Amino acid sequence: MMRLPPFTYLAPKTVADAARLLREHGADAMVVAGGTDLYPNMKRRQFEPTVLVGLGSISELRGVGGSAGRGLSIGPMTTLTAVSQHADVARDYPGLATAAGLVSSPQLRNMGTIGGNVCVDTRCNYYNQSFEWRKAIGFCMKKDGDICLVAPGSPRCWAVSSSDTAPVLWSLGARVRLVGPDGERTVPIAALYRDDGIEYLAKRRDEILAEILLPPADGWQSVYLKLRRRGSFDFPVLGVAVALRHEGHVVREARIVLGAVASLPREATVAAQGLVGERLTPEVIARAADIAAGPAKPLDNTDYAHFYRKRMTRVFVARALRRLAGLDDGGGADEGMA
Ligand SMILES: Cc1cc2nc3c(=O)[nH]c(=O)nc-3n(C[C@H](O)[C@H](O)[C@H](O)COP(=O)(O)OP(=O)(O)OC[C@H]3O[C@@H](n4cnc5c(N)ncnc54)[C@H](O)[C@@H]3O)c2cc1C
Ligand code: SF4
Repeated sequence: MMRLPPFTYLAPKTVADAARLLREHGADAMVVAGGTDLYPNMKRRQFEPTVLVGLGSISELRGVGGSAGRGLSIGPMTTLTAVSQHADVARDYPGLATAAGLVSSPQLRNMGTIGGNVCVDTRCNYYNQSFEWRKAIGFCMKKDGDICLVAPGSPRCWAVSSSDTAPVLWSLGARVRLVGPDGERTVPIAALYRDDGIEYLAKRRDEILAEILLPPADGWQSVYLKLRRRGSFDFPVLGVAVALRHEGHVVREARIVLGAVASLPREATVAAQGLVGERLTPEVIARAADIAAGPAKPLDNTDYAHFYRKRMTRVFVARALRRLAGLDDGGGADEGMA
């Protein structure tokens, strides 16, 4: 049985105190939200903090406020269940409700938070293993080793961004408010991510994700499709988030963001631009899906063969666009099982 190592648990009552504690304890400390990813990672010694700063006692970090007309404010400690079942989210930002409702299992969605999902660690077959397993193969540079076992000549880690909600929030134009000991800043969620499997977040260690801000729904439609092996629960090995706004039957704005194809969510900008000014005909959809598969460059370090995952990008983007065009035949349900 894998056991948690000893640690000190701190329970600040305010975000400012939490940020102060993170600075005080430096590299020894980590934030814990629902703990559904962090505690298993600690058991496998992928994370070795001696201090955990728990956000559970900070009431201002929980709940959904605002309206579709003004935009929504989502507290990072809101559970995935609450996000997926929130009436305004489900009606006006359906892609987000779908993604939150497809994360792991019901039990983990009751504990797991949207903030933890946005900040969740990147994944790799050579890393998401017990300490003994990793030791037996000599470790890798993401933890305890010095080479990449997927791409041994590579100077960087290619672990995969595996959050379900991150690509949807990106496609919806969400912003995040980060609070640190020296003040706060609000940035587009796209600016939160870095293309590096180890340092995958562009925030300082002592910054807390304090709010997720969604712009007014303003006619935007959204959809999220997920490829995973087990329909009951599994991390995505491909996530496709599409958000677009029509005027009449013509697309006026569009964003396509791919999850689980790189160390960060990957925006398929050219494909989305090609939709603007067009009607979503089968030909336009097929062309956009072809182009969207371009930025998907999965490596052989998660479930399913990487060339299959790349091929499925085209299939899933087309399926998502068909759904938004009302052309979908219903095949594949939300998770679009292969
Ligand atoms: C069996 C299993 C299946 C899973 N399946 C999926 C899946 O299908 N899709 C998916 O996306 N995830 C999946 N997960 C991962 C995890 O359950 C979810 O990502 C969950 O949303 C994490 O939220 P949490 O509140 O538990 O985060 P925690 O585990 O508490 O934290 C996760 C990370 O985020 C950081 N963090 C949390 N909140 C903040 C904050 N406010 N500010 C700064 N940093 C913060 C923590 O320091 C930690 O690094 C799975 C996990 C397990 C164990
Ligand atoms: S991509 Fe390479 S360095 Fe990163 S976790 Fe996998 S094997 Fe390790």
